[in-house]
Amino acid sequence: MFYIYENWQAGPHKTVIHEGSCASCNEGTGRAGGYDRRHASWHGPYRTLEDAREAASAVAQAVVRNEHRCVKVNGKGPGRVKEGGTGKRTQRPLDANSLGTIRRRLFQMLDWAEGKASRDTTPMKRVIILRDQGKIPKNIANLMQTVLGFRNIAEYDDYVPTKKESDLITSAWEVVLEWHSANSKR
Ligand SMILES: [Zn+2]
Repeated sequence: MFYIYENWQAGPHKTVIHEGSCASCNEGTGRAGGYDRRHASWHGPYRTLEDAREAASAVAQAVVRNEHRCVKVNGKGPGRVKEGGTGKRTQRPLDANSLGTIRRRLFQMLDWAEGKASRDTTPMKRVIILRDQGKIPKNIANLMQTVLGFRNIAEYDDYVPTKKESDLITSAWEVVLEWHSANSKR
C-alpha cells in the first residue's frame, strides 16, 4: 500500500509518496507522536504506486511532488529510478495535467488580485492588465506568463516540458506562490 504525505508548513506546498511499511509513514499515521494536522495530512492508502501518483497530481496546491526513498526500494511501477538518487526533488517533468492544475490555482490568484472573478479575457491578458494596474508586481507577472505560456503549448501543442524547463516552471511557480502567501495573509 502507498500513502501520500501532504505538507504546507514550510517551503513550497508538497506531497511525498511513501510505502505504508516505511517508518516515516507507518501506514499513513506518521512517526510516533503523530503529526500536526494544521499543516500536514496523510492520504491513502492506494493499492499501486500509479494510483498514489495520480492522487498526488490531483493535490492542486502542491508545487513539489516527491517520492520518498522507501518507494524507490520497494516500488513496483516503472520510472522509479530517478536521476541523482538522493531521494529529494524527484518530481516528474510537468505534464499538461499538472500545468492545468497550476493554471486553475493561478485563476484564483488573479481573482484575488483583481478583487473579483472575471473570465472576460484570457489569463495571459489578465496578468498584463493587472500588472499595468499595479496589482501584480512586474517580476511576478513575468513568472506568471512563463507558467501560463508553458501550459498553453502543453495543452494545445502537446508539448512536454523538458526536465530543465520543468524545474524552471516549478521555481517560477514557487516564487509566485510565495508572493501570494506573503501578501494575502495581511
Ligand atoms: Zn517513506
